[in-house]
Amino acid sequence: MINRRNFIKTLSALGISLPVMGGNVARSNPAAKKNNPVIICSRDENWGRKVLKPGWDILSSKGSLLDAVEKSANITELDPEDTSVGYGGLPNERGVVQLDASIMYGPTHNCGSVAALEGIKTPCSVARLVMERTDHIHIVGKGAQEFAVAHGFKVENLLTEKSRRIWLRWKENLSDEDDWFPPKDGNYDTDRTTGTINVLAVDGNGDMAGITTTSGLAWKIPGRIGDSPIIGAGLYLDNEVGAVGATGRGEELLRSCGSFYGVEQMRAGKSPQEACEAVCQRIIDINGGKDKIDFSDKMVAMNNDGEVGCAAIRGSKGREPELAYWSKKGFKVLKGTYLIES
Ligand code: ASP
Repeated sequence: MINRRNFIKTLSALGISLPVMGGNVARSNPAAKKNNPVIICSRDENWGRKVLKPGWDILSSKGSLLDAVEKSANITELDPEDTSVGYGGLPNERGVVQLDASIMYGPTHNCGSVAALEGIKTPCSVARLVMERTDHIHIVGKGAQEFAVAHGFKVENLLTEKSRRIWLRWKENLSDEDDWFPPKDGNYDTDRTTGTINVLAVDGNGDMAGITTTSGLAWKIPGRIGDSPIIGAGLYLDNEVGAVGATGRGEELLRSCGSFYGVEQMRAGKSPQEACEAVCQRIIDINGGKDKIDFSDKMVAMNNDGEVGCAAIRGSKGREPELAYWSKKGFKVLKGTYLIES
């Protein structure tokens, strides 16, 4: 009997590539433009430098594109100070940290993702293994954790003291009708934060890869999955066009297929900046106009020439959405645009 794995191996031994099934078809990219390589992330100066340094070191020494985006994304995942990604992320309503992450690789147009993953500090590395070492794309919950353990990851408590205290504040102030009381001295840690991170890269050959990783919306219902691990919502790329990543209210990015829409805008001729603005406008339109919006989403994009763009639904002067990037010209921060003043 010929099973799928042997079938694909046989074909490749014969030098035949199989579209769709294997996800192993090289997507040619004629572009190897002067800007490349470039690596970007959806963060400001401080985080941007920390996050992009390892990725840039790999890319600029002609290392692996996937290693570059993974090592950069791992920086925020492993940093307990960041309460929106990986270890130290804010938990769900029960106080349990559940992580979502996705990865996509341009040359094969293949991808992998994990969702509602508990106890593993680096979910994007697990997503990469889903892409590279399974025949699947998306593994969630207990199954994702078992898969990670099978690959040697340690199950650890991801809730830091800082995140526990922020969660407890929410919990104790939730209602006057339950039995949880806030402390009399009001001594609590800081507020609920949002964050997530997108890391996108193009190498010297014009090939692209991207990652989105997050602890999702704080206080979510256990099992809620956001846009970040959904290919086309929180992350999408096409080697022949460019890459887009999203952060912010995931439900809106899911129902607009936000990142896919952004890539298709670039395919139709828009610049990365125009594509990001088009996604934000699309979400505003779906919701019935600017006065109906009480949330924000932020898009970052890069085409395979290494041109970048960034836009958010909401912002204000001095609080523009930001994008950090590293190229041969060094480290830079781009202040993006916003569609609604808030
Ligand atoms: N997009 C993430 C989610 O909805 C949250 C965020 O970016 O802050 O899960």
